[in-house]
Amino acid sequence: MKEYDYIVVGGGSGGIASANRAGMYGAKVLLIEANKIGGTCVNVGCVPKKVMWQASTMLETIERDAPSYGVQAAVEKFDFNELVARREKYIDFLHGAYYRGLDSNHVERIEGYATFKSDHVVTVNGEEYTAPHILIATGGRPSQMKIPGGELAIDSNGFFELTEQPKEVVVLGAGYIAAELSGVLQGMGTQVHWAFRYDHPLRTFDKMITENLVEIYRDNHMKLYDHHVAKEIKQNADGTYTVYFENGNTLSGDKVLFAGGRLPNTDKLGLENTSVTLNEKGFVIVDKFQNTTSDGVYSVGDVIGKIDLTPVAIAAGRRLSERVFNGKSEEFLDYENVPTVIFTHPTIATIGISEEEAIARHGKEQIKVYRSRFTPMYFALSDYRQKCEMKLVCLGEEEKIIGLHAIGVGVDEMLQGFAVAIKMGATKKDFDDTVAIHPTGSEEFVTMR
Ligand code: FAD
Ligand code: NDP
Repeated sequence: MKEYDYIVVGGGSGGIASANRAGMYGAKVLLIEANKIGGTCVNVGCVPKKVMWQASTMLETIERDAPSYGVQAAVEKFDFNELVARREKYIDFLHGAYYRGLDSNHVERIEGYATFKSDHVVTVNGEEYTAPHILIATGGRPSQMKIPGGELAIDSNGFFELTEQPKEVVVLGAGYIAAELSGVLQGMGTQVHWAFRYDHPLRTFDKMITENLVEIYRDNHMKLYDHHVAKEIKQNADGTYTVYFENGNTLSGDKVLFAGGRLPNTDKLGLENTSVTLNEKGFVIVDKFQNTTSDGVYSVGDVIGKIDLTPVAIAAGRRLSERVFNGKSEEFLDYENVPTVIFTHPTIATIGISEEEAIARHGKEQIKVYRSRFTPMYFALSDYRQKCEMKLVCLGEEEKIIGLHAIGVGVDEMLQGFAVAIKMGATKKDFDDTVAIHPTGSEEFVTMR
């Protein structure tokens, strides 16, 4: 049996980051990946999504916004297939970069599916490997709709397999992926019908965000349907699909896309042969140091079901290796105040808690909210006056900022800097004391009254 200091199961965001950091400190590391290196983010997540978002934004700029600046440009041809081919070539290039990074840190790699034989022995392609430290970083996969015909809907993986642009799509779901891919497709000229189960999508976000998103998407000719619970999907004779809803409505398109959350990759891992404990949804239970219930077995990333974001998986993986292989015994990731951006059209940026959650947690009298709603200068010359809206949620007399939320052009690139301030405990006065940068959208954050 081959012996290592550290075995990492899963070569996605968390696994690669942790393996590299351990390798940097001289540990003998083995990384096991069943599919393409880079995991969800690189192959079927952040990276291809952002490429598609950029393309969609570009088309909107040319078709919707450029004429207001006197630029009369027409899109002669938008070749979806070429875009996909170029995107995949870029992803291939990233694979190479990951391999080079792992090689430079002397991380050994095996392609294959790992299963646990016992707490410290994993089997891959019929061979056994052991280490005193093992990381479970196996991520997740899209859930499938449990209704008749649910298997007819594509998921986000299926979206990235498309080589032809669909003309009309029914999107089901109400989270990040449904919001992003609806916007991408509509921006590219596909007619999107976005149906969700309750009165608004993105229900865990500040209501200001979702109200604006719905308004903006409707202004851009997307069709949105609230209180729509799908009960069946059927394929029609012409190859299109129809979704039947509990309220009697039906929606049809040449594709149905379902994005209703993700499942952890723990079911076929052989964890029943170990003392690793899962919660009722199958996610790995860890403490704040990413320790599972089995000594020397750790877990990070989507498979723990905490915050499914690439930088979170990376940060947790790196901190773990700092603790285990570099003697930083108190190193751990703080999961509070993690900034996040949704690549909708326009983007959403948020850190901390929503106004609704702040009031529920601290009481209305403890919370002061500042808001700003304005037309960004980008739209100043246009008849289409898309709004940007921002909010600061402040706590107590010192007005500590516990929530910062925005939707509008460019807010994706504004958030990172403000996140530093909020992580440091910034108050409204700190924002007031900061001189604005003019003319920008971000100046609104430091001039709210
Ligand atoms: P993964 O990246 O999923 O990696 C897990 C790896 O483990 C996979 O490669 C898998 O093949 C492998 N594996 C599983 N089981 C085994 C086994 N038994 N043996 C060997 N290998 C195994 N996050 C952002 O921060 N920004 C974004 O813009 C963003 N966009 C997204 C868009 C989409 C459509 C999706 C689906 C996700 C997006 N995310 C985004 C989330 C982000 O992709 C994940 O949070 C991140 O990839 C999680 O990393 P991970 O290491 O936990 O898992
Ligand atoms: P999310 O958890 O974001 O949202 C899924 C939502 O879909 C649920 O909250 C629910 O909302 C709705 N839903 C669940 N089941 C059904 C059903 N049967 N029918 C209709 N609607 C349903 O999941 P996603 O799959 O969108 O994304 C997974 C995660 O990946 C995200 O949480 C995020 O962490 C990460 N991600 C990050 C991105 C980024 O950083 N930009 C981009 C994409 C993904 P309701 O109860 O209101 O119906």
